Amino acid sequence: MTNGQVVIVGAGPSGCYLAQALLKACPELQVDLIDRLPVPYGLVRYGVAADHQGTKGVTRQFARIFERQGARFFGNVEIGKCVTLDDLRSAYDAVVLAAGLSKDRKLGIPGDRIPGIFGAGNVTRALYDHPDAENLPSLGSRPLIIGNGNVAIDLLRLLAKSTEEMEGSDLGQAATDWLATSGIEEITITGRSPAARAKFDVVMIKELAKLAGVTIRVVGAGTSDDPDEQKKIDAVEALDGLSTGPRRITFRFGMTPAAVDGETWVKAVTFKTTEGIESIACTSVLTAIGFDPAGDLPRAELIAAASDAEAGALAPGLYATGWFRRGPRGTIPENRTDAQALAARILKDLNAADANANKLGPTIFQNLPDLTDYSGWSRIDAAETADPPPGRCRVKIATREAMLTLASEKETKP
Ligand SMILES: Cc1cc2nc3c(=O)[nH]c(=O)nc-3n(C[C@H](O)[C@H](O)[C@H](O)COP(=O)(O)OP(=O)(O)OC[C@H]3O[C@@H](n4cnc5c(N)ncnc54)[C@H](O)[C@@H]3O)c2cc1C
Repeated sequence: MTNGQVVIVGAGPSGCYLAQALLKACPELQVDLIDRLPVPYGLVRYGVAADHQGTKGVTRQFARIFERQGARFFGNVEIGKCVTLDDLRSAYDAVVLAAGLSKDRKLGIPGDRIPGIFGAGNVTRALYDHPDAENLPSLGSRPLIIGNGNVAIDLLRLLAKSTEEMEGSDLGQAATDWLATSGIEEITITGRSPAARAKFDVVMIKELAKLAGVTIRVVGAGTSDDPDEQKKIDAVEALDGLSTGPRRITFRFGMTPAAVDGETWVKAVTFKTTEGIESIACTSVLTAIGFDPAGDLPRAELIAAASDAEAGALAPGLYATGWFRRGPRGTIPENRTDAQALAARILKDLNAADANANKLGPTIFQNLPDLTDYSGWSRIDAAETADPPPGRCRVKIATREAMLTLASEKETKP
């Protein structure tokens, strides 16, 4: 079936890579990407660090899906709220859930609801002007980070950087002021596993050696017989003793959080270690320990009932990819491999099925209020990059209302 209609829920990296793979293999296919936000690109826009603009360059590749390959974007459409999954399944030959995972995982230990604990997702959304973000939190002078994956290292690096070190980023004014006035003196970063099995990538650790105003201490990195594990240990140990300025950073490993202490605000975290119990005082806690599903899509039920969850096949005509399928693991390029395999599976299934010319396709969205499309996103993108202040490459439009206003403006002829 080469004239089939496919809809992808979520225009983040996994949705974009899937559209790219489907249209490359079968250019006659109609591929629609929908997103609950008025703008595409998911965590590339709202998760990837503001000082990692090179990584965000992948959006140029994604833009070609809409500009050259014929994919269509329908923004400001939340599946589960504006349109049901059943509506989509009746309107399209194939529906793919690429909705990611965005709810910060809870610590699940006594005290984990005490004020002063902030999830990495909430904090990065606030830092990067996500339209649904909460306010930037008050961290005090000694925040403690729990987690040792790349997201934790991103947070550590941002909190440790000076205003000058954010040159060239797209960090907004409110976040810039927040970082400049944070009053942070010391950041402790703790991981449950030993350094050998920490989740961070070595390249992320090496980047910390460039920080201009920090003094770093590494406690208990250990050793390993495995050469790859030893590379991680070497990278982190190379930071020990680095001293370029007053802001102190301490790495701790093998620390399993057991309880958060405090009454009206966090005061300390108690950890189980190989030596026994240890309490570390802090003025706030940042958790970077993974993500759970948010919103109304019944992910757990769909995956439990899936015909072949590993291949992304949930039910006839219904598929999943990216973080939504795999869980909150893997970098942007890892979603590409996933998407290519799923594209082959979808095309095989479509070819085996009869084309249904009566499928409604995107006409089911036509009465939805404030729908955005790719040209609307292009207007937002152009406005954000037209005249950034010195030291910034973009000023994000932060509210949904302002994005919708710009997206709906008609093009004016000169
Ligand atoms: C803070 C952070 C920093 C990261 N930094 C890097 C990095 O530097 N380099 C790297 O390679 N990887 C990085 N990653 C990992 C990378 O972002 C992920 O691999 C990738 O974004 C997963 O893609 P996805 O499309 O599955 O999910 P997402 O990027 O989350 O995209 C999902 C999309 O679905 C939409 N959506 C959700 N629910 C609905 C719904 N009900 N209806 C309609 N739309 C919906 C969302 O708005 C979103 O646009 C980072 C991750 C995080 C959390």
